[in-house]
Formats: sequence, structure tokens, C-alpha cells
Amino acid sequence: MAATSPSQTITDLHRAGAASDVFSGSRVTSPIPSPPAFVRQRLAIGLPEVSEVDVVRHFTRLSQESHGVDNGPYPLGSCTMKYNPKRNDALAALPGFACAHPLQDADTLGGVWEMYVRLQGMICEITGMDACCLAPAAGAHGELAGLLVIRAHFDRQNNRRPVVLVPDSAHGTNPASAAMAGFECRIVPSDLKGRVDLVALREMLTPDVAAFMLTNPSTLGLFEDQIVEIADAVHANGSLLYYDGANLNALMGIVRPGDMGFDVVHVNVHKTFSTPHGGGGPGAGPVAVKAALAPYLPSPIAVRRDGVAQRDDDRPLSIGKMKSFHGHVAVLLRAYGYLRTMGAAGLRQASENAVLNANYLQRRLSHMLPPVYAQFCKHETLLSGERLNTSARQFAKRLIDYGIHPPTLVGAGCVYFPGDLKSAMLIEPTETETKASLDYQVEIFQRVFDEDATDEALVESAPLSRKIARIDLKN
Ligand SMILES: *Cc1c(COP(=O)(O)O)cnc(C)c1O
Repeated sequence: MAATSPSQTITDLHRAGAASDVFSGSRVTSPIPSPPAFVRQRLAIGLPEVSEVDVVRHFTRLSQESHGVDNGPYPLGSCTMKYNPKRNDALAALPGFACAHPLQDADTLGGVWEMYVRLQGMICEITGMDACCLAPAAGAHGELAGLLVIRAHFDRQNNRRPVVLVPDSAHGTNPASAAMAGFECRIVPSDLKGRVDLVALREMLTPDVAAFMLTNPSTLGLFEDQIVEIADAVHANGSLLYYDGANLNALMGIVRPGDMGFDVVHVNVHKTFSTPHGGGGPGAGPVAVKAALAPYLPSPIAVRRDGVAQRDDDRPLSIGKMKSFHGHVAVLLRAYGYLRTMGAAGLRQASENAVLNANYLQRRLSHMLPPVYAQFCKHETLLSGERLNTSARQFAKRLIDYGIHPPTLVGAGCVYFPGDLKSAMLIEPTETETKASLDYQVEIFQRVFDEDATDEALVESAPLSRKIARIDLKN
């Protein structure tokens, strides 16, 4: 097959007769005498015929065209793109787990339930909650599960509370999940320090409010230092406090959402607990709650009865299943392996280093990209592009040419951030970058900053190193 071009799909590589019939063509005696029906069906629906080597080259080329944490720095704020230790992949590939089938008898899956009981316990311990369900498939899915739990709780009390409050700095999934769970969403403004505006929140806490969704530290990288007052105000109104756990990487082993007053949390294991993320694979968004809400958690959950870990199917108040079978077992196994190898002290150290690294970058970049909020940050920092001749967007695109993934862009065009930010970047280095890597990033930022001052056209035309610079010409 000829050399492939960037826009080529597997279908473009089709060549009649290229796919060999492994079953009938083999001279080795096959236990399967003729192509089974499913293979014949596939050929009949017109799937492309491509030789094995061309299939391998096609997908290898595609994998090389994307940027991952395994081939360069990935300071994408809010996403915690940290390195995933490969030993956890080996753990997930152990045949006892990898070859288990979700339909085999529940009592032959003892190892999975044992791992689930332990992981549920670790998540409860880290978040300060009492019960946990591992089934949701991602953070947003965990939000939906948590909000349905909240709805079930109030429905059972015949307490009509159709409203969920969300701060204006919230991740876009928060209002989306609230809407999907059937709530009306109201937006709480931030104050001048980037915190929740407590006066506005108090006014908005009316008897129809079921919950306030919050992440701490916030998506601006700032710790909500009024969290105790916030929790008291929410609870005094009979409402619940929901913790978006996407920023847990800032405070593992240091402070727990449950101790801050949160009632429900979700955890993005593919962020904080170092499992594949984004294009790297499916994630998981376990949801954990205080005891009063435990009966409503989705199913299945794992319990230990008479010393034996097993699935608990006797949960009449549960909101039901959020995911087929048992959730993403292989992802959760990686999270379990990560937590076991880190231990409590290691988790705390990871968070401390994540915060240290973010403050190091904030300080060293401040003469080019001053922090929007002039104070120490947590695990990520929001830097202003106001001194750039081009824009934060173009600056970020030029970083691609130097092998650094663009940070998260904030401001114009980003609907879910406070509206008055014009051009800013949210940078999250994570704890897995070395000091040498951070220094390299500073050097590259300086180079691009200088280019922005002397050769605006160059920065405007970035990225120059990609076969496709813009997928959507409007951007
Ligand atoms: C990533 C993120 C989410 C959504 O999580 P997914 O796992 O991507 O669905 C929610 N809130 C915040 C603050 C996030 O950063």
C-alpha cells in the first residue's frame, strides 16, 4: 500500500482481496472448519479489506500523531494529565482479571469483588465518606449518579427541591449533569478573589434548592477558604453539598471533602488516581456519599459478608444501574494498584508536589503571564495573556511546535468561566514532572513569549509542525 496521508481513514486503504481469509487459507488444521457466521457477516457488510501490515501501520501512524503524557509535558489545567505508571497496566492485564467474563457466575468473581470492597474503602477514607459505588464511567457520569442520589433522597421525603446551584467557575459538566438529572440550574457568581460570593449564595439558598455543586480547590486553582461557612449555609437551608472531585489531586491526604461538610462526591480516577485518560482509554467516576444517602447509591456495590467479598443485590432504594455489568473493572484495578503502591504518605506527598510544581511555574512565568489572582495557587494556576501581542490561544498553539501540549484556554470562547476574563491559560503541571521538565517548560514559554514580541506573524500561524493546523477554520 502507498504511503498514508494524514486524512486517510481505514476505509480509504481498502483494496479488494487484500484481507486474507485466515480460516480457509491456513494449511494448519483449524478447529474451525470454515469461517464462522460472524466473520462471513462482517465481509458481507462491506468492511474495508486491508492487509494486516497496513492495518498496523495505519493505527501506529495515528497513535504517533497525537500528543500524550508519554511523549511530552501535558499541563492541561483541570485535567490532571499525570503519568500513569506502567506497572498498573501489568496488574490490569493479569489473566485472572483480564480473562474474567462479566456473565460468569458471580461467585467465581471473588477477586473482583475483593478488589472492589478494598477500593471502595480507600475512596471513602480519602474523601471522608461512608459508602461508595464504583460503577460510573467518568466524572460527568459520577455527577449524574450523585445528583440522582440527591433527587432520590428528597423524593423519598416528599420534599420538592427542583433547583441545583452551580458557581460560575464550575466545569461545564456540572450544569449539564444537573439538567440531565432533571434539575433547574442557577449560577452563583464569584467574588473579586475568585471565591464563591457568599452573600449572593445566601440569597440564592431558597427552600427549593436541593444542592450546591462545588469543587475545592476551584477550577481557578484557588482553595475556597470560606468552605465551612458555605457548608453551614447550605445545610441550614436543608440542602446538600456536592463535591466535584476533579481537583482532588491538590489535597489527597491533607484534607477531606467529607470533613469540609460535603455530602456527596465523585472521584475522577483517570485524573487523580493515574489511570488512562482521554484518548488513552475509558475512565471511571466512582461516587461516594455520607451514610444517610448510602441506600440510594447505584448498583452494584460490593460488600464483605461473613468475611467474603461479594456483590450486594438487596438494595431496594438504589437509583439502579448506571453502567452495564460491573463498571470499568480494568480502570479501577489500575486505580487500586496506584493507591496500594502510593500508600497514604505517598498520596499526601503527591498532592504536596503537585501544589509545589504549580506554584513554581506560576512564579517563574509571572513576568510573562501574570497570575490572574495574585496569591499562592493549589495544583493549577490561572495565568493572564494580557501582555501578549497575539493571544493566549495563539501562544498555546505555538507551544505545540515545541512538543508541549497547550494548557487549558480560559476566557473568550470558553463559556464556563467567569465572563470578564479575556485571555488566560489554566496550567496544571502535576507532580509527575521533574524539576528539569518544569525548567524546560519555562524555557519554551520564554522562547514563545519572545517570538510573540518580535514575530507576531509566526505565532499567529502556529502550529507549523502539524500536518493539520486547524480542524475548524473558524478557530
Ligand atoms: C474533568 C472534570 C470534570 C468531568 O470529568 P470527566 O471525567 O471528564 O467526565 C468535572 N469537573 C471538573 C472540574 C473537571 O476538571
